Amino acid sequence: MEPTVAPDAGAAAPISAPVALVTGSTSGIGLAIARRLSREGYCVVLHSRSSAAAGAALAQELGRAVYIQADLADDEHRQRLVREAVAAWGRLDLLVNNAGISRVIAHGDLAAATPEVWRELHEVNVIAPFRLIAEARPALLQAAARGRPGCVVNISSHAGVRAKGASIPYAASKAALNHMTRLLALSLAPEIRVNAVAPGLVDTPLTADWIHAQQLWKERAPMRRAASPDDIAQAVSMIAASDYLTGEILLMDGGLNLT
Ligand code: NAD
Repeated sequence: MEPTVAPDAGAAAPISAPVALVTGSTSGIGLAIARRLSREGYCVVLHSRSSAAAGAALAQELGRAVYIQADLADDEHRQRLVREAVAAWGRLDLLVNNAGISRVIAHGDLAAATPEVWRELHEVNVIAPFRLIAEARPALLQAAARGRPGCVVNISSHAGVRAKGASIPYAASKAALNHMTRLLALSLAPEIRVNAVAPGLVDTPLTADWIHAQQLWKERAPMRRAASPDDIAQAVSMIAASDYLTGEILLMDGGLNLT
């Protein structure tokens, strides 16, 4: 197992600032969320599957931040991630399940959507968020005992709401994440709030060559552009600031669904 960059030993006593764990936070949307939460006063636990050097450098840059490497397809890694995240500052207030994977497969190409693709996407996009929430539940309950409900924000996709998306297995995995969000909001209330942000197209390295989608958003979306990672981070921040909102799937597609 790769080494983990942890805070100084002895930093385990709970502190007064809230603590957020953001999965997949060394690139794209997760990076913007981590930066924003850090600016807003959160201690941030950064995470990625492989980019440990970038994660450690980012932790240093942000200040009150630590980086933990973990493969979310592996249940032992998931448990260790939450354990070490809670141990970092002795508390956890906000879990952002941002890490996710996609596969581009034409919807009509049923043969290409193999059982392996289905399992891989389901493992990271559905089972991992559920297992992280289960593991984080005791710490999030303690947040409620301190006075504010614990908060979970799942980053799903408009593909989980509409009959769209990079592939059928991807869209179905995000639809499962949306439904899981509602089910957990009901079962974990009132101590823990669970919501999702469902982005449409977001300008990240992942989508840099999605020319057709970029054109679609420029021409058809009422907001006339794709979202920036900061737009999504702002939505996460709004949800985190609430004490009441739960079970919502916030569609962040610049209004494309209206057309
Ligand atoms: P990205 O590829 O930059 O980020 C994905 C992150 O997930 C990376 O940090 C990666 O390390 C992590 N990850 C992937 N598999 C992992 C694994 N097995 N273990 C641990 N970490 C793993 O992509 P992004 O565009 O920033 O996407 C972030 C989230 O937003 C994803 O859930 C994605 O489905 C969702 N989303 C993105 C868009 C978009 O247009 N970019 C649109 C809708 C939804």
